[in-house]
Amino acid sequence: MSGILIVAEHTRGVLADSSADLIGAAMAVKAQLGGPVRVLVAGDVPRVFAEALNRPGVDEILLAQTDNAHFDAAVSEAAVMAAARAHEPALILIGHSASGVSFAAALAVQLGSGFAADVFGIAVAASGLRATRGGYGNKVNVELDFPGKSVVTLTVRGASFKAPEGHGDARITTLPLSLDGIKGRYRHMGFEEAPASDIDVSKAEFILSIGRGVQDEKNVPRFAALAEKLGATLGCSRPVADSGWLPKPHQVGLTGKVASSCKLYIALGISGAVQHQHGMKHVETIVAVNTDANAPIYNVATHGCAMDVFVFADALERCIG
Ligand SMILES: Cc1cc2nc3c(=O)[nH]c(=O)nc-3n(C[C@H](O)[C@H](O)[C@H](O)COP(=O)(O)OP(=O)(O)OC[C@H]3O[C@@H](n4cnc5c(N)ncnc54)[C@H](O)[C@@H]3O)c2cc1C
Repeated sequence: MSGILIVAEHTRGVLADSSADLIGAAMAVKAQLGGPVRVLVAGDVPRVFAEALNRPGVDEILLAQTDNAHFDAAVSEAAVMAAARAHEPALILIGHSASGVSFAAALAVQLGSGFAADVFGIAVAASGLRATRGGYGNKVNVELDFPGKSVVTLTVRGASFKAPEGHGDARITTLPLSLDGIKGRYRHMGFEEAPASDIDVSKAEFILSIGRGVQDEKNVPRFAALAEKLGATLGCSRPVADSGWLPKPHQVGLTGKVASSCKLYIALGISGAVQHQHGMKHVETIVAVNTDANAPIYNVATHGCAMDVFVFADALERCIG
């Protein structure tokens, strides 16, 4: 067993960002694990994704023709099984998405592999592969070893690894695949659109984010106007989104979006729970405003103002006129 098998994901002709992230994850351990890095893409026209997946460090792109226009868990599992049997990878990386989690565990059972879900760290220790994931509601990081396992399957949390930039020189080959008795187990019923939003906090460079400290829904427009004046994207904590004060796409954190491109993050009235920090603690410059000087947000803040968010907003509005 050697090398890494990455499972690319796509929906309605669009490659998931997580596919490139998985290549980044593979690069974190490629040198120590040894063997080639292969990317498997299955679907009715898999070739259309080959170019985007041909990143530096990828040795081979396996195209699996399935004639499925939409995701099918049984077909995906069969395609990855076929690739795993043909190439015997030591590590299989799948996105921790609704699609990925619907077949990854079953695949691991079939392979008899080690398995961990929602992984955000991968390393090679003296004892072998080591994966890091959250535990106790993401309050602690848990490191997992896989003793006695020659192959390990992991689902990897989105935006946890940086995709290698540029173009690679991977071979593109076809993976022979028999789907007898597999097709038709699932039926695609249709897509339900998420509420439309013109904001994407994962791509914003400057985020002004509000939490429960803004007290009331009626105060939200004031902070939205302030964000607009500053040229910032308006983010929020989960209670703000859960209460319907702002639509879900504004939410930063574990069950929201990771502020992957952000360089300046202003957190107003946000306590800084680990789940919120998951989406922003990596940001280069974090300014926190919270009346509670012991709030956990100050553990990750570059600058802190232990003051009322409304007094802070007054001062900022006066400065920018
Ligand atoms: C599985 C799971 C997933 C989760 N995912 C997410 C996620 O993706 N994103 C997320 O944000 N949370 C998430 N949470 C919730 C998270 O645990 C916290 O409950 C949440 O982040 C708290 O939001 P908050 O900071 O706005 O509210 P609070 O924790 O209530 O904090 C409000 C803060 O405002 C301060 N404050 C109050 N009034 C003022 C004022 N006038 N001026 C200045 N400061 C003031 C208070 O001191 C307090 O620190 C998740 C939880 C679970 C269990």
